[in-house]
Amino acid sequence: MAMPTVDDLVHLLMRLDGKSYKAYKDIQGRYQFDAFVLLVDYVQGDPFAAPSRVRVQVPQTVAQFPASLSATHSRAVALRDFLHRQFAGQAQRSQTQRGSGKSGLMAIAPIGQQVLDRSSVCVSTTQVEVRFVVGLPARGRTILGRQAVELLCEDLPQIVARSLLYAALDAAQLRHHVEVGEDADALRQQLGDRQLVAFIPNGAILPRQSGVDDRPLQEAAQPFQAPADLSVTFERPNQGSITGLGIPQGITLIVGGGYHGKSTLLRAIALGIYNHIPGDGREQVVTRLDALKVRAEDGRSIAGVDISPFINHLPQGRSTTHFSTENASGSTSQAASIMEALEAGVRVLLVDEDTSATNFMIRDRRMQALVAKEREPITPFLDKIRQLYKDFGVSTVLVMGGSGDYFEVADTVLALTDYAPENVTAKAKAIAIQYKTHRTAEGGDRFGALTARVPLPPPTDLQDAGDRPPKLKVRAVDELVLGRETVDLSALEQVVEVGQVRAMGAAIAHLQTNQFDGRQTLMEAVDQVMGAIANTTLDALTPYPQGDLATFRPIDLATAVNRVRSLRTKPTRHPGSHI
Ligand code: ADP
Ligand code: MG
Repeated sequence: MAMPTVDDLVHLLMRLDGKSYKAYKDIQGRYQFDAFVLLVDYVQGDPFAAPSRVRVQVPQTVAQFPASLSATHSRAVALRDFLHRQFAGQAQRSQTQRGSGKSGLMAIAPIGQQVLDRSSVCVSTTQVEVRFVVGLPARGRTILGRQAVELLCEDLPQIVARSLLYAALDAAQLRHHVEVGEDADALRQQLGDRQLVAFIPNGAILPRQSGVDDRPLQEAAQPFQAPADLSVTFERPNQGSITGLGIPQGITLIVGGGYHGKSTLLRAIALGIYNHIPGDGREQVVTRLDALKVRAEDGRSIAGVDISPFINHLPQGRSTTHFSTENASGSTSQAASIMEALEAGVRVLLVDEDTSATNFMIRDRRMQALVAKEREPITPFLDKIRQLYKDFGVSTVLVMGGSGDYFEVADTVLALTDYAPENVTAKAKAIAIQYKTHRTAEGGDRFGALTARVPLPPPTDLQDAGDRPPKLKVRAVDELVLGRETVDLSALEQVVEVGQVRAMGAAIAHLQTNQFDGRQTLMEAVDQVMGAIANTTLDALTPYPQGDLATFRPIDLATAVNRVRSLRTKPTRHPGSHI
């Protein structure tokens, strides 16, 4: 039987006019339009419920995107990001309220300034597929068939024609989008060979419009300018050479007066794990993918983490080699987050004094004199930061305007004055000799062991009835509801899109039901899921194709898992090794 056509859909919708909302279920299926196929995958139960999921598939014979635009993975991801933004713009423009609740809605997943690999747009040699949601129109719970025809059979073909056909797009703008992304990936790939952890080019715009608006600050923004003695130059495949600040491996201290741009620089470095859209200001700022921003997070739970390199001799003789708590302190949370980061393969730590526990960061001479080492469980980060680099090659970029005790241990000291960086390493080293801290180093000879943990199967009372995976709800980028549990992700500062949280939620549900078996280590389990995504697509995570997922790093998935309060683990028998 031939596929129903757009005319069949028009007739069907007109026939449904005036019926009760449930009758909309009849439109589930595929329809041949002039230029594409419409797939109605899921029909919402009422006008106020989660909207209906639909897809369009435009054959490449119609869409006609040149193969060169998806010749590499970088290019393909950027092309798909561009089409997502075009579709979003056109859908937004044609949006009209067409009845109660979500009636008339046409929307693709909300995204920000980052260019991510998402499930919303798929481009193959044969077709372009876009996944989005619609609010099927109704007045109260009565179907508005005429309005549904306008939405699906009149507006939608126009949106598709304006956003998904190569001929309708600004070819130069599209090529630029793709080339900028490819260049950023090329820059990021060169960091390791150049022994750098991050690169911030001259001219980059780092400040944002506000704490809740990630678009670039406009007139008031001072473009980034690297100090001459830390300048490096890279070649890019598309846009030629580029010069800027190379942050070297080792320990880099960012100092400077309050409000002079330290945290802004560190945040730009943290988000340099992503590509950004042209015009963002950070589109050629790049950071190694194994960099993680860690912070204090009092109140978080900790599941069997060996925090003994930092914390020992807790009151009541509590173990710190397999430390668990429902309510961590600032210092224990930061220690655990660093140990978990090392377990997850992080090799660059990003730390800001603004979000750190003071007693984890420093312990000065006077305090050492007053509170004996035997009565202070914490070995400050100051006494461990060099060992991290020496023993494991883990670099740290640290914002610290409040204490000069770190001058001794830093390889590079950058001072920001009116947002402009200067290399003050020699000056800081001279000051460190002139004004001794007279501290006693408390860190011992070695950093200490890294222990891999083995997650245990989750307690059965937390699982939903039957073998179904827990229900997922994502309220915002910092909150994941997983069955009966709410996971606070606000400390995951490098997770930027709701789609990443949704994908990680699905991944965690999968880990809990299939991978946490009391045998595999956490990272072995995480790698299994990442492998499944790499072998297919993000669709591996969901029972049916969804348009609202975005990729995440294994590091971030591990970081999210570590915040699941029901997580229970045991240590591996041989610390530091895999089973
Ligand atoms: P610090 O961490 O040194 O106290 P922040 O990074 O929080 O400072 O920056 C303070 C303010 O200055 C913020 O409002 C930020 O947006 C702004 N800012 C940072 N860098 C620049 C810049 N290059 N040009 C203009 N404003 C900036
Ligand atoms: Mg700050």
